[in-house]
Order: sequence, then C-alpha cells, then structure tokens
Amino acid sequence: MKTSPQKCILCHKDSTEKLMSNLLMRECLECGLVWRANFDVDIKHYENQGIKKIDLNDEKIHAKILDMKDRVNLFSKYVDLKNLCDIGTGRGLFLKTLSDAEYENIIGIEPNSEASEFYTKNNLIVYQKTIEDGLKEIVSRNNIKVVTMFHLIEHLNDPLAAIKEVFDSLPKEGRLIIETPDINSYSIKKSNYKNKLIYKEHLYYFNKNTLRELLKKGGFKIVATGKRDFNQNNLPIRESLFRLGLLDKKKQESISSKVVFDENNQSKRRYAKNSFIKKIVGVSLSRLVVLTGRVNYIWFIAEKE
Ligand SMILES: [Zn+2]
Repeated sequence: MKTSPQKCILCHKDSTEKLMSNLLMRECLECGLVWRANFDVDIKHYENQGIKKIDLNDEKIHAKILDMKDRVNLFSKYVDLKNLCDIGTGRGLFLKTLSDAEYENIIGIEPNSEASEFYTKNNLIVYQKTIEDGLKEIVSRNNIKVVTMFHLIEHLNDPLAAIKEVFDSLPKEGRLIIETPDINSYSIKKSNYKNKLIYKEHLYYFNKNTLRELLKKGGFKIVATGKRDFNQNNLPIRESLFRLGLLDKKKQESISSKVVFDENNQSKRRYAKNSFIKKIVGVSLSRLVVLTGRVNYIWFIAEKE
C-alpha cells in the first residue's frame, strides 16, 4: 500500500481523515485540498482501459466526440490550439477532433499503448512517454506552445511535481489548459460524495481555489477559469432534474430507464415522436443546469510569463 502525505502539498498544514463514498480521504484543514489516505491503485485499471476497439459509431464514443467538440469550441476562444501537446491523451479523441478541425502541429503523450492502432489510423502523433520521462524534450523538439491536461491531474500521486515539470517544459508565454472534477460541485455534495467521480483511481480532488493554488505554486499566472461538464448540452434528463433539485438521487436510481419496444409500427412511430420531444426537453434542461452552474468540472488556463 502506497501511503500518501499527511500534510497538505499546497499549504503544508495538517489534514484530517474523512470518509467519502467508502474511501478514506485526507482533507486539508486550511485550504480544503482532498486526497486519498493511501494510493493503492491497481495498475491494471489503466492497462485495461482502452483495449476495446474504438468504434466511432458507438453511442458512448459519439457522446465523447460531442464533448470534445464542446471542448475545442470553448478553449479556442482563449487559446490558439495549434502547436499543442495533450498530456494523457488516452484514446486520442481530443487530438482527432483538433486534427479534423485542421489545427496544425498537435501531438500527444500517453504512457499506455493500447490505442496505438487508432492513432496510426488517424495520423495522430502520440509519444509513449510520461511527464517525468520525456515531456521537456518533446515540447522543445516539436515547438509546442500549449499543453493540455484533461482529467489527468486527479490521477497523479504528485500533482505539484507534474505542474512544475509542465511549467519548466513550456517556452515563455506558453499556456497550460487544465480540467478536473470539482469536489465542491453541486452533484458531488448533494449525493454526499456517492458519485461516479469519487473513486479509487482519483487520488486528488480539487476545487476552484485549490486548483488555482496548485497552478500558482507551479509558477503559472492565471489567465482564465470556468466550469463545464461532460457533453453539457445533452445531459440525461434525470441527471438534469437531479441537478436542478427536482429529483432526489434515490428516486432517480429507482426509475427504470428501459424503453420497451414491440414489433408494432404504430408504437415505433410513437416512440420516434416521444424521443424527439425527449431530445428537446433534454437540451432545454441541460441549458438550465449550465446556467445555474451546477456542473461537475472546473478548468483553468494558465500562462508562463
Ligand atoms: Zn492545504
């Protein structure tokens, strides 16, 4: 079992133990940073993650692609997304979205090789490396100006060291875009931490203040910040109702989500009509959730002055 620090890595103050969704955590008494009390992560979790073939027609992958498009639309308002290195690129869907939008000189770093077939097929350049072992050289060799870290920092057992390494790697005026779950988000708090974002492999949990502090300690100046969510324009209806306080979580789980089909054409037509209405309702409720700020992720754009 890998033990984690007792003192906060940001403010060096004492922490207290706290149970969140049956996981033992430590919480800094001063700044509110949260981390797991031990880092006993089964490495197989990561090794097995992407073995399944990436099918672009798959519904889940389709939702991920919509999310990647949202991501590109949002961050391109602040940063020119060319000359970019995506750390922890995973299956490479963000790089593919950038490449489809014709951004130039985009590369990725990913220690696992299981998506390599997808990279090759889509002409994506991904180095099988880690931050400690190769980032500096890759960034300087490829003339990289922007580094992205999406849903990576919460998995690292030394997030501050990682941010410092990114800072050292970037040229002057280079930028970092970072996104992670928000431990202070409405749905995490409302569900009393019994939330899919609270799980073993997430070692550190940030809020807006602690993530800002992490970036500053790493040497960065903050340029912009905000909140968003996964595929936030198409949240599931029940999820939206829960976030708007119109459905409590227990009820939400007990409602069956199965749709019963029969072979009768009339009912198929009715289903098609219903699903159209459902879509409109879904999109409208999603907008309300975004407007109320009850979304799960926080992001920052930081610059090396
Ligand atoms: Zn602290």
